[in-house]
Amino acid sequence: MTRTLDKLYDGLPTGHFIGGEWHVGNTDLPVENPATGAVIATVADGGPDTAAIALDAAVAAANDWAATDPRTRSDILMKAFHLLHERAHRIAQILTLEMGKPLAEARGEVVYGAEFLRWFAEQCVQAGGEYFRAPTGGQRILVTKQPVGPVLAITPWNFPLAMVTRKVAPALAAGCTIVLKPASQTPLTALELMRVFQDAGVPAGVVNCVTTSRSAAVATTIITDERLRKLTFTGSTGVGRKLLAQASERILRTSMELGGNAPFVVLASADLDKAVAGALAAKMRNGGQACVAANRFLVHDSLAVEFAERLTAAMSALRMGDGMDPATALGPLIDRAAVDQMHWLIEDAVARGARVHSTAELPDSPGHFVRPVVLTKIDPKAQVWREEIFGPIAPVRAFSDIDEALALAQDTESGLAAYVFGEKLGETMNFAEGLQSGMVGINTGIISDPAAPFGGVKASGLGREGGSTGLDEYLETKYLALRLS
Ligand code: NAP
Repeated sequence: MTRTLDKLYDGLPTGHFIGGEWHVGNTDLPVENPATGAVIATVADGGPDTAAIALDAAVAAANDWAATDPRTRSDILMKAFHLLHERAHRIAQILTLEMGKPLAEARGEVVYGAEFLRWFAEQCVQAGGEYFRAPTGGQRILVTKQPVGPVLAITPWNFPLAMVTRKVAPALAAGCTIVLKPASQTPLTALELMRVFQDAGVPAGVVNCVTTSRSAAVATTIITDERLRKLTFTGSTGVGRKLLAQASERILRTSMELGGNAPFVVLASADLDKAVAGALAAKMRNGGQACVAANRFLVHDSLAVEFAERLTAAMSALRMGDGMDPATALGPLIDRAAVDQMHWLIEDAVARGARVHSTAELPDSPGHFVRPVVLTKIDPKAQVWREEIFGPIAPVRAFSDIDEALALAQDTESGLAAYVFGEKLGETMNFAEGLQSGMVGINTGIISDPAAPFGGVKASGLGREGGSTGLDEYLETKYLALRLS
């Protein structure tokens, strides 16, 4: 571990967390700060053996945890919620150092991520059942819910904290034990969270965490073990497809939160101030590295030129730099490959006739920085229009006909988030209802809320996280037939 982290973070955990204990690995996984390119820490790099031990621990703890009364589970989750708030500053700093997002956004993620602990602490004690008379006879029908069993959770690097609590909180609330495999680029935040769970009184083996550079091998070891009952994954659609294929062999319960390609539609009746502010929020949160990030801007002819000008100005004005600097509003991308991908997307669009708009300046830094740009005159065949961008590029196309806008918005295999801006209620609502996506922001660029069901349709995934149905992802419904004599 480097001196910086040693000095700042006394006792930063770097081992696997298994069965309530920290396990030092045989090999090391380096963690890089994307703002500087420097290695800031190394963590244990586990393989199939570590994965098997972690699942053993989750299985060993499963029956006792399932038998714990909901109030106890709720109290533990609530304690974790408070501890996370107490440690918010330290954890936000660690998050920024390994992932790059500005400190204020990292603080926001800690608060957002903590809300899943509170939300599911509240949901935990409300999982009811049913008792009623069968319509055709004297039998009674009883319906109850039981924990699905040991869970494997695989999470991405873009929200290293919130994507973990969004899975661990409902799993624990439901009475499931869990093995977490965080993204290899952001393991430190996940390990800090393990310490929060440990200190909140989560019993040994209920939550386990394996850090690894061999994700496929670790996941396969656990998925092919017949004791695993559930796979929950957040990440790219490509990896989701592979995991679903593996899960199908086992007929595993799955929750899949996959990639997006969100349309952001500005209707003729839109208030341009609101639309530009919403666009900035929906595009630039986390530097565009969000599954719900606005990906394709469709703007009515009458507003398109001014919208593109104002969005260019707003995006270019974001101060770029190291996220640890409080003046920074836009951090680096996660790695060099992401920067190269942005350059390639812009080149491809320009080769197909696009115009590039930006006045942003790159910081003088070896970090993974890229200039935010708006692209106009977009060919719909350009890759930037077809695929999830995951960076600060905003392609803008004008439309004249609302049906054409709806058809263009749907022209993707993804169906996670969408945004529509308009001041005519009926027209705007009709448009929102017509969109094939799991979530729609109407006159807002921010939609994530632990109390709302988060998830996608089409190739964006299966299931919902958060909301009143989030707990069901970790519960089995059981029917008992009762004959009264
Ligand atoms: P990713 O490459 O799919 O990785 C996600 C996780 O899967 C990481 O932990 C990764 O480990 C692991 N992984 C990669 N290949 C694997 C394999 N063959 N078997 C098992 N695990 C494997 O995605 P990412 O680049 O980290 O995240 C960005 C993607 O996540 C975007 O597409 C974004 O839209 C999506 N996302 C979706 C949501 C949602 O709620 N729908 C939320 C956030 C992000 P390594 O780190 O070792 O590669």
